[in-house]
Amino acid sequence: MNDLFGVRRWGLVALLASVFLLAAVAAANASHPMVQPDGDRMHWSDNDPSFPRGYVFWQDQTGAEWPVFSSAVQWDRASRLDAVYVTGSCTSNHCVTVREADLDPGCTGRLGEVLHVTGPAGHYFSATEVRIDAQCDARSAADRRELVCHELGHSTGLDDRPSNTNTCMRSGDMVGEQFPDGHDFEVLLFSYNHDDPG
Ligand SMILES: [Zn+2]
Ligand SMILES: [Zn+2]
Repeated sequence: MNDLFGVRRWGLVALLASVFLLAAVAAANASHPMVQPDGDRMHWSDNDPSFPRGYVFWQDQTGAEWPVFSSAVQWDRASRLDAVYVTGSCTSNHCVTVREADLDPGCTGRLGEVLHVTGPAGHYFSATEVRIDAQCDARSAADRRELVCHELGHSTGLDDRPSNTNTCMRSGDMVGEQFPDGHDFEVLLFSYNHDDPG
């Protein structure tokens, strides 16, 4: 059985939960991974012979204005994580559906959310889903890129960063930060730098 521990809504409503997580993690290792209640860092396993590293399939169901492919290319730079971009069916058990959702009719925030579905050892399952707000059409192309990069980053196991950092994983109102930074990749390396059985 998969261990479903809830929808995280990234934006104003999730502020308290996010702050709590960051505080708990910061004390442990001054890092920014998503962590399960049991302490395991959330990540995609490498338990497939054709993927020697952790891997994720992003199944893009969004419209053309959402830069899912370009953001996936950036995250694929992570040294121990392979990203695969698909638009049609996804037969892997490492699929994340990326779709539009009506989250932010008032254009008040970031706004996207990730349904994290993980189990033993912090490994993700295919029911994990990224939802991108399609209600607010006032966002610039750079802000849409920040939003997509941010939510894809969450679905690799990264948590929010402070608003004054130069990464798409920063929190707060969007400022067109379109790319991950070196710290994001360091956190991913730490989370993915092991071989899983199977
Ligand atoms: Zn693992
Ligand atoms: Zn976030």
